[in-house]
Amino acid sequence: KGPYISGRVATAHKTKYDVLIPGEIISLPISGVMRSKNLHPVVGDFVVILNQDPTSRMIVSILDRRTCLSRGGAGESTGEQILAANIDTAFIVTDPGMDFNISRIERYLLIVRSSGAEPVIILNKTDTCDDTTSKINEIHTELGHIPVVAISALQNTGLDQLKEYLKPGKTIIFLGSSGVGKSTLMNALSGFNLQQTESIREDDGKGRHTTTVRHLIVLPSKCSLIDTPGLREIRIWTAEDQVEELFQDIIRIARGCRFSDCSHQQEPGCAVRQAIDNGELLESRLERYRKILKEMSFEREKAEIGL
Ligand code: GDP
Ligand code: ZN
Repeated sequence: KGPYISGRVATAHKTKYDVLIPGEIISLPISGVMRSKNLHPVVGDFVVILNQDPTSRMIVSILDRRTCLSRGGAGESTGEQILAANIDTAFIVTDPGMDFNISRIERYLLIVRSSGAEPVIILNKTDTCDDTTSKINEIHTELGHIPVVAISALQNTGLDQLKEYLKPGKTIIFLGSSGVGKSTLMNALSGFNLQQTESIREDDGKGRHTTTVRHLIVLPSKCSLIDTPGLREIRIWTAEDQVEELFQDIIRIARGCRFSDCSHQQEPGCAVRQAIDNGELLESRLERYRKILKEMSFEREKAEIGL
């Protein structure tokens, strides 16, 4: 055991990090240099530990992030925007029932794709849904060819299809709204009852409750899973360039509109309407684009009034 060893961050707390090293989990601070440079590890990070006597061990650097999941999409290397690092696959868990929402899935996809990880959409609770196939078709029609896996975590059906992602050395993050069955699925996959995800509620001084803590666990098969405590992270993305990236087809088409402020409704010479008419663009996609623009301006307004 030389002066330096490496480990992986299993949980990032405010000032301490639970780090997995062979055979144990240790709680470590980061070095003063890292603090001054504002370099904060996130769950999934591989870190270098200065391995002096146990009382003065600390994290001294973060190894390059292979993939970087962040709220805004693009992976800037510092700041609280980063949700997790070194993710291979993101399971976007969703419920095919009442709450099924293509726009929400699309937003998760945006975040996952710009992270470098591979998205897999998981339709859970298929035991309660009798038109799973139409939901799968809807996903493929609206969002293109993404792997979709239909399961019931509760009844343990369809889980075999997830095996190919649960390989040794791989890291999987579970995304999705609260209540879709992420914990149930993680428990089913790990074969034992994991601790109930703890989410720490903190008051940020403005009366807002924020903060959730993610945990990385390593399965006996050496595949790692990262949970996502119930949260509203998907609402918090605002980066407009990400939207532009996602909807670049519409933006490109709209350059052909006669009026530069065209709303693509009834205007003469609207290239977007024309693209819809000749089947180049889905009306539903334009609607989602509108909706996101609207939400973004709403988020901006809220930010401006300090909400
Ligand atoms: P999470 O918030 O995403 O972690 O969701 P949970 O795993 O806590 O599940 C929320 C609720 O959905 C619980 O009552 C689960 O028992 C239920 N649930 C989870 N998976 C399934 C499923 O496949 N079928 C049905 N019918 N219920 C499920
Ligand atoms: Zn137009």
